[in-house]
Amino acid sequence: MDGDLAEVCAVDEIRLGDRVKMRKTHPCGSDEWTVIRIGADIKIKCLGCGRIVMMERQVFLKRRKKVLEPGPIPEAETLRAMTE
Ligand SMILES: [Zn+2]
Repeated sequence: MDGDLAEVCAVDEIRLGDRVKMRKTHPCGSDEWTVIRIGADIKIKCLGCGRIVMMERQVFLKRRKKVLEPGPIPEAETLRAMTE
């Protein structure tokens, strides 16, 4: 059995390096972003113009439309490494 698929589909998971599609298109015309920081606040970088935006986790989850490509490391693992 491969448990990876269920992991990737976890609705509330935010991984470092996630490539995501947001509900609202950025003024530069791109609606794809990559996650560069996770924790209580989420930092994302626009793939169109490189602008970095920080927002609360709940806000990010509300604005996120789709994960196009999940980051390589599960969120729980990254958070654990950050607090060690
Ligand atoms: Zn942009």
